[in-house]
Amino acid sequence: MVPTVSQNKQTNTLPSALYVVAMPIGQWSDLSSRAIDVLDRVDVILAEDTRVSGQILKFAKVSTRMVSLNAHSESGKAGRVIESLESGQSLALISDAGTPGISDPGRLLVDKVVEEGFQVIPIPGPSALTAALSVSGFPATPSHFFGFLSTKTNARDQELERALSYDGTLIFFEAPHRIVDLAGRLDEKALGRKVIFARELTKTHEQLIRVVAGSCADWFSENADRIRGEFVVLVGPTGVGHKQSSVDVDRILRILTRELPPTKAAALVSEITGIPRRTLYRQLTD
Ligand code: SAM
Repeated sequence: MVPTVSQNKQTNTLPSALYVVAMPIGQWSDLSSRAIDVLDRVDVILAEDTRVSGQILKFAKVSTRMVSLNAHSESGKAGRVIESLESGQSLALISDAGTPGISDPGRLLVDKVVEEGFQVIPIPGPSALTAALSVSGFPATPSHFFGFLSTKTNARDQELERALSYDGTLIFFEAPHRIVDLAGRLDEKALGRKVIFARELTKTHEQLIRVVAGSCADWFSENADRIRGEFVVLVGPTGVGHKQSSVDVDRILRILTRELPPTKAAALVSEITGIPRRTLYRQLTD
């Protein structure tokens, strides 16, 4: 339960508001000093999973009381959050990783708090969405974020087809146990478009896999370990902005390395496509 105003921290509290605080997406040191300061000074932290957040808060030496607020309890707990704001408290909303409300709980609560006339203050920071887009080389405008596609086959197909009809960069989140399925659907429906699998961003096994649709599923089938971890999937726009060749680079690289050492294969493909040799070499050796 959210504590009452009488339980407010005695010193150094923040103005009453709901602070929406971005958390790291893997690398704990990405937690900003402003985020730590706010988390330390609010009266209560509303956390998606108190055990997950407990570890990082311990790392940040924050001992503020946590209350769980997840997708199931979000609308039910909104009333109590409003009561706390009415009594002058400050609250921080955090999710397990990244920015609340971005395919995470938060939107309903924020909507309710705004509707009731209280302040909502962003404490920006990491998100898998912006991290992946920032290193994609794909245009950010226009770009369309779809989050997770439906898990139901027909709806998934329809959503993907609708997404592919938009002009611009497309961004999806996907769970590891569905990544091969999405790769296969992209091979079928987005043939020839550039695709990036941004895997385990900011973590030890971070990888940016740049392939062309038609060879997405092949990349995963080569090594069972590749489906491990978290993924953002980006699809480049059709035509416009494609400075590099749209040939199936990954497939050509793999064929050449049957006969040639990786450095030589990377050099040849670089000459043909204009893609930097180092990028290709990294793709081969990752
Ligand atoms: N709110 C979070 C954010 O702003 O990044 C996203 C939460 S959503 C429930 C989790 C999904 O985000 C994962 O399934 C994956 O698609 C993506 N994701 C989160 N962390 C990631 C990471 N380190 N690398 C790649 N994708 C990640």
